Amino acid sequence: MNSTALVTGASRGIGRGIALELARLGYDLVINYAGNEAAARQTACDCGALARDCGRTIRAEICQADISKSAERHKLIDFTRATFGRLDLLVNNAGVAPDVRADILEAGEESFDRLIAINVKGPYFLTQIAANWMIKLINSPQPADFAPYRPKIVTISSISAYTASTNRGDYCVSKAALSMLTPLFASRLAAHGINVYEIRPGIIATDMTGPVKEKYDKLIAEVLTPIQRWGAPEDIGRAVAAIASDAFPFSTGEVINVDGGFHLRRL
Ligand code: NAP
Repeated sequence: MNSTALVTGASRGIGRGIALELARLGYDLVINYAGNEAAARQTACDCGALARDCGRTIRAEICQADISKSAERHKLIDFTRATFGRLDLLVNNAGVAPDVRADILEAGEESFDRLIAINVKGPYFLTQIAANWMIKLINSPQPADFAPYRPKIVTISSISAYTASTNRGDYCVSKAALSMLTPLFASRLAAHGINVYEIRPGIIATDMTGPVKEKYDKLIAEVLTPIQRWGAPEDIGRAVAAIASDAFPFSTGEVINVDGGFHLRRL
């Protein structure tokens, strides 16, 4: 029996990159998406093909659920339970940017509420449901074909957790709040043997950054980041795969920067 990962927002971008790297490791996958079913199906299909190329047999199933809604968070976990019966890795990846970048002296409450609901409340309460199920599984007798059960939780935050962008304060506030999820759940879950990590991506080439491509091309050319290139979804996927492979058994609550060195103070 394979291990199972649930990746939120895995139809496109970083989540898709994470799903592909987990497929390479032989994880069964729940590919969550909000509305783009065609992209989710494509990711599931590509994950299956990549696993086959690596000599693995996996199942990748798609599940529509808006993580900002309580009933849909439960639906997502219920689907994972009914389909695979176990959850080894939850990856809280789904997140959104504001529809319009607006100066903080003018930006409205509607966008703020939307971002808090999707970027903070969604992963926070999804983690709560997933963690309770993981604890139950740890305390239940395991079937003989159950791979060793050492569940983990990974949350994808952003350099915006500590970098002020005054034209998208709502996004920065949501990512700063999200960054508290990992120390909280890491502290609470360590005694159960569940390790919890945060991955903090820098500037990654996805649909989210498409509208500001020229701006970031210029900043990267001016050496905004010591590693002078755009990040790719695969860069984040490989970091998640390292965690999924049990590379950090004595670490929990860690923040892993995958940002080309953006966070370094330089003179
Ligand atoms: P993206 O290309 O816009 O993809 C967003 C993904 O999230 C899609 O799969 C989308 O599903 C899903 N999604 C959106 N709202 C959702 C909801 N309410 N419920 C469930 N799924 C939802 O974004 P990305 O660039 O890959 O970003 C992924 C994560 O990384 C986000 O949390 C983002 O804040 C973070 N991040 C991104 C960057 C960057 O430079 N790109 C940098 C730092 C952090 P559909 O396809 O169905 O719409």
